[in-house]
Amino acid sequence: MIEELVTTLKEKTLPPPYRVTQMDEQLAFEYGKGMKRILDEWKAKGYPCNCPDTLRPYFEGGMNDEAFKHALHEWYEKWDPIEQVRQLEACETVFNNGVKKYIPLQSWGFDIPDEYNVVVTPFAIGAGGAGQRMGEHGPVITMWYGRQWGKEGRTPEETLLHEAYHLGADEVIYKELGAAISDAAKYQQTKERIVDCCCAEVLVPDVLPLYHFQFSKQVDQPKDHLNNTFLYQTHLSVPQRLQLYAKSLKN
Ligand SMILES: [Zn+2]
Repeated sequence: MIEELVTTLKEKTLPPPYRVTQMDEQLAFEYGKGMKRILDEWKAKGYPCNCPDTLRPYFEGGMNDEAFKHALHEWYEKWDPIEQVRQLEACETVFNNGVKKYIPLQSWGFDIPDEYNVVVTPFAIGAGGAGQRMGEHGPVITMWYGRQWGKEGRTPEETLLHEAYHLGADEVIYKELGAAISDAAKYQQTKERIVDCCCAEVLVPDVLPLYHFQFSKQVDQPKDHLNNTFLYQTHLSVPQRLQLYAKSLKN
C-alpha cells in the first residue's frame, strides 16, 4: 500500500523541465576517461569513436590522463557549440509533446526523470546521441557536437525522443530480456530495435510525422521472430511483450 502510494507520488503528470547545455570541462574529463574504458567493447559492436583530432591520441592509447586533461583544456578554450545548443533548444515543443505520450507508460515502469538534461559533448561513441545515467549528474542525454543532421537520417527531435525512451525503458528491457540474450552485440541490436518500434508506436504520426529506424531493412520481415512476438502484440504492455519474446527465445 505504502509502496503503491510512493509510486503514484513519484509519477509525473507533466513533462519535466528540458534543458540544453554544453558539457562542462570537468565532466568532459570524467566522461572521456569513462568512454576510453568502454571504447573497445563498443568498437567491436561497430560503433566509431568521434572526437576532435587533438584528443584522438588519448582514445587510441597514445596519451595519458594528464596530457588528455591539458589537451581538453586547450580544446575548451576555443570550443563554442552555441549553434548546436540552439538547434537542440528549438526541439523543446516537439520533445515535450513526445514526453506527454510517455507519461502514461509510467504505469508499466517507464521512468521519467525530474529533468531532461541534454548536454552537447566534444566526443562520443557512435553517431553521438545517448541516454545515460551519470552518477551525481543523474540522467543525461548526451549529443556529440559534430553530429550531422542530414535529409535522410534522423532528425534531432527523433534522436532526443529515442534517447528519452532509453532513459525510460532500458532498465525494464534489461530486466525482462537480459537473461534471455547473453550475447552482448545481439542484445544491443535487439534493444535498439525494441526502442525504435516502441518510439514509432507512440510518436508517429501525432508527434513525429515519420520515424527513421536504425534497422529499417528488418522491420517489415514477417518471419522475424521479434515482429511476431513483440512488435505485433500491441494489446499487451511492453513488459508483457518482452516476457513473451524472452519466452519464445527459450523454445
Ligand atoms: Zn538507441
